Amino acid sequence: MRQKVIIGNWKMNNDKKETEDLLLKLSKINCKKEIKVKVSPSYVNLESAVKILENSPIEVVAQNMHYEEQGAYTGEISYKMLKCINVNSVIIGHSERRMIFSENDDIIKRKINTALNNEMDVIICFGESLEDRNKKKHIEIISKQLDVIISDLKINQWKQIILAYEPIWAIGTGVNATPKQAQEIHKHVRAEIAIAFNKSLADSVPILYGGSLKPNNSEEIFSKPDIDGGLIGGASLSFEDFNSIIKSIDKK
Ligand code: PEP
Repeated sequence: MRQKVIIGNWKMNNDKKETEDLLLKLSKINCKKEIKVKVSPSYVNLESAVKILENSPIEVVAQNMHYEEQGAYTGEISYKMLKCINVNSVIIGHSERRMIFSENDDIIKRKINTALNNEMDVIICFGESLEDRNKKKHIEIISKQLDVIISDLKINQWKQIILAYEPIWAIGTGVNATPKQAQEIHKHVRAEIAIAFNKSLADSVPILYGGSLKPNNSEEIFSKPDIDGGLIGGASLSFEDFNSIIKSIDKK
């Protein structure tokens, strides 16, 4: 059975106190072993998040990192800095990084390589724009993005990888992909991994959906066979909503 995963991406939200209040509430929830919950606070709150969640199975994830180990990169953070505070997972390729911070395929690929080569787990995001979808080019675009992500990966690196399909038009808009639209992409991605590697590997990779997931749509989206959980932005800022989404994956 594939790992079910729920990740809260808090982006540039929540100050220290708000972060700690939310973490304290989350630290008390009982999650079943087969459900992996992760949260991604801002950089400045990562260390206290690790401490607060010390005795909880919830894992702390960084929202980004640089591909170099150290050097003259003002404002950047390296994998070494993350690992020395016990943050061993990172989100890479989020559409906000691609669009607002001009991260191209080359940068994303380098970041993925650095993370994987340094024993970090990686949540890799991809997804089409509304224009791509309206032109019915979404499958083609997803295949291209996936190709960049998976070309030259080694089989044993897949255990460090979680994929997240995040259609750009659904992120923060309140318009989610329908369960059918999301399932179509997830199934396609799994089929491409099976061709490039093998079916049993493809069947083992967790593929999350992200984009306006809320308590009122998560259960139906998670019910689809190739959707293994969610990457959640806005709704993960509310303890009640995030907890309710965590509970809904349990019904899968
Ligand atoms: C995200 O930013 O990864 C995301 C899915 O955001 P939201 O849930 O707010 O659409």
